[in-house]
Order: sequence, then structure tokens, then C-alpha cells
Amino acid sequence: MTTNTTNTSCDKSVSRKDFLRLMFLGGAAAAATPLLPGTASAAPRIELHKDTLAVLIDLSRCIGCRSCEAACNEANHLGNHPAEYESDKVFDEIRRTDATHFTVVNKRIPAEGAAPVFVKNQCMHCSEPACVSACPARAFEKNINGAVTYNPDVCIGCRYCMQACTFAMPAYEYDSAFDPRVRKCEMCFHNIDKQGAPACASICPQDAIVFGRREVLIEEARKRLEKDAGYVKHIFGEKELGGTSVLYISRVPFDQIGFPTNLPLEPMPKATYGFLSTIPVLHITLPVLLAGIYSVTRRRDDARAEDDHE
Ligand code: SF4
Ligand code: SF4
Repeated sequence: MTTNTTNTSCDKSVSRKDFLRLMFLGGAAAAATPLLPGTASAAPRIELHKDTLAVLIDLSRCIGCRSCEAACNEANHLGNHPAEYESDKVFDEIRRTDATHFTVVNKRIPAEGAAPVFVKNQCMHCSEPACVSACPARAFEKNINGAVTYNPDVCIGCRYCMQACTFAMPAYEYDSAFDPRVRKCEMCFHNIDKQGAPACASICPQDAIVFGRREVLIEEARKRLEKDAGYVKHIFGEKELGGTSVLYISRVPFDQIGFPTNLPLEPMPKATYGFLSTIPVLHITLPVLLAGIYSVTRRRDDARAEDDHE
């Protein structure tokens, strides 16, 4: 599932995680130095490879069948019952991705009496991902093919990635008593060679999800926008937050169907770095700072988990 997952046994990976966690929470600068996040040591611009892959979602084609959700469930062994994907009851509320639903399709009504628009949400595979920069353990990685992947073996469970993500996509296995992981779409990274495309793109009966080189998909999106005046003249994800590897086109203005339309064009890691670089003794204070944020984060997340279970 990840690029750098090793063949360590379960026991070994657990003890490694615990070790990393202790190192981190101990707050000793010397011990924590190797865990400093990418943001703190530098604000690297990730130059996108010209062959970077992406997904183009044409919202005007989606009929809300949720085959993509079911295919994602199967491909990622998420364990949900197949019948879950047959009921339209789920459209009664706006859902978020969670630890066992890496993609969700929501029904949006743009205006009273207007036809619904079905919007598929998942990790946006940002070109310069905030989750990658925020992670002190380097558990997230932006791969050359565009996918943002996660390595549970080095994750220390601080959940900064969840705080950092503008799209609120990483979810946490609150129900897992042992070794909970952060979960999110990885663009079927583990299976892409075999499958040739993410499971959602392969299954969509409407060709609403197209997978390919990002450059080519942007060209394709432009062509559709030029050819058909009914489309909104905007490719969501082309520039937002420095660009993403999930792109959307729509016939309905994005602000009417739940998209954040006031996003900066600057990548989030850059903004974070601007703040962090003002701290002169960062390499000494960061572990303490992060430990403080960690306890706040944990309290908030625990409260949220309790709410979810009520
Ligand atoms: S499979 Fe295609 S048409 Fe069906 S819900 Fe997903 S994106 Fe929409
Ligand atoms: S959408 Fe969130 S989780 Fe996905 S790559 Fe961007 S910052 Fe990371």
C-alpha cells in the first residue's frame, strides 16, 4: 500500500511505532531531531513530474450510483457489507470520508427545485500536501506518480495530518484498540500496476472518473469546457493550494455544491513554513510545541470519538 513498507513482522512494527512515539513525546530535542517534519527543516517545492498521474471527475456525468464507493471498499478491504452500497438512504445526509470509507458520494442540491448534483469526495492528492509537511514522522509521502501514500509502520499517531488537511480527508481508526492507523485514499497505489487505474475510475459506468497523466487530463478538461458552454469555466484542483491530482469539472458553480472556493493558490506547506521559520530555536522547541499540540489534538479527537459513539 505504501512505497516504503517493509516486510517486518507485526510485532516488530508495533514496537518500532511505540519506540517512535516515546521518542516523540519525550520532548528531548536531541532524540527528536530525526523526527522533525519536512516543513521545519525546509519548505521544499515538490516539482511535479511531467508524468504525474491524476483523476478527472466530471460531475455532470455522475448519476450517484455509488459503484465507485463499493469498488473502493472491495479494493481496499474496508470490510463494509455490500448491501450498504445499494441503499439511497445515505443521501439523506452529507457524509465525510472515514476510516472505512475512503471515498463518499454526496447528493448536493444547488438551489431549491434544482436537479441534484452527485459529488464524489476523497483525498485530493495535493501536489504539495499539507499532510506530508505536517507529519513529524514522515509517514506520508508524495509519490512521483501523484499519489499521496501513508506508512503505518512509522506513524506515531499524533494526527497532525488530520489537523493540517484543508479537505479533512485523513481519518483515524478510533475503533481499533491496538495500533490504530490513519486511513485515506491512496489512489489504489498498492494495486495500480495490476489494475491500471484506481478501482473507482475502473468501475464508473458513466466515465465520470478518468485516470491518466495530469497534463493530459487538464487538456481534456479544457477541451470539454471550450466545447460546451454549459460547463463552469473552471477546473477545480488545477491551481487550488498549488494544484491537486484530483481535478473536477462541473456545470453547476462549485460554491453551490459544497466546494471550498476561497482556497489560496499557494500550497499549504509554504504557508505553514512561513510561520514555523519565524521560530529561531525551532529544532529545540519544536518537540515541546508539538507535544502540546498533540495533547490538545488528542483531547479534541477523543471528545469527537465519544460524540460519534453516542
Ligand atoms: S461510479 Fe461513477 S456514476 Fe457512479 S457514483 Fe461513482 S462517479 Fe458517479
Ligand atoms: S487532501 Fe489532505 S490528505 Fe490528501 S494529500 Fe491533500 S493534505 Fe494530504
